[in-house]
Amino acid sequence: MEPKGIGTTRVARCAECGFLFSSVNADNASVTVGRIGPAYAEVLRANSAVPWLRQRPSAKVWSPLEYATHMRNVLLLFARRIQVISRAEQPELEVMSHDDVVAAGDYNRLDPLTVAEEIRQAGRSLADVLAGLAPAGFARRGFRDGEERTVLEISQRAAHEAQHHLLDMARGLGRSTTVARPDQSR
Ligand SMILES: [Zn+2]
Repeated sequence: MEPKGIGTTRVARCAECGFLFSSVNADNASVTVGRIGPAYAEVLRANSAVPWLRQRPSAKVWSPLEYATHMRNVLLLFARRIQVISRAEQPELEVMSHDDVVAAGDYNRLDPLTVAEEIRQAGRSLADVLAGLAPAGFARRGFRDGEERTVLEISQRAAHEAQHHLLDMARGLGRSTTVARPDQSR
C-alpha cells in the first residue's frame, strides 16, 4: 500500500528510501522524471515471467506489478495537476484514493510489458510538460485537500515515488532470490 507519509508529510529526505527532495530542482526536473519510465520498464521486462511480480508479499503490501501500475497512475495524476496549475490561479487539485484505485483495478492480471509501455508514455508526457515550463512555472501552486503544492514539489514527489516504489518492487521481487540464496550463517 501507499506508505504512510509518502504523500502527506514534508521531510527533507525519505527515511526509508533515502530520497533527497532538494535533489530535484527546476533545472533537472524534466530530465529526472524522464528517467522514471525506462527504469520501470527495465524492471518489468526483466521480471515479466517471475511469479512474485503478481503476488502480494502480504495482504497489506501491493505486488510489484501493483506498485508499478500505481506509479503509472501517479505520473498521469501529477501531469493533470500541473496542467491545471499552469492554467488557473491556485486551483483545487484532483485527489485520488490510490488504495481504492489499486483495490478496484485488478492490476495483477495486467500484462507487465503493457504496463511498462504505459509508464514510459506517462513519464515522457510528464517530463515534456516540465520541459515546457519557464522557471517561474515551477513556483505556481495549487491546493490538494487544503495543502499547498507547487509544481516543483509535485515534480519532487514524482521522483520520490518513483525511487520509493522501485524499492518496494525490489523487496517483493527479492523473495525469489532469498529462497535460492546459500546459507550465509556458516
Ligand atoms: Zn522514499
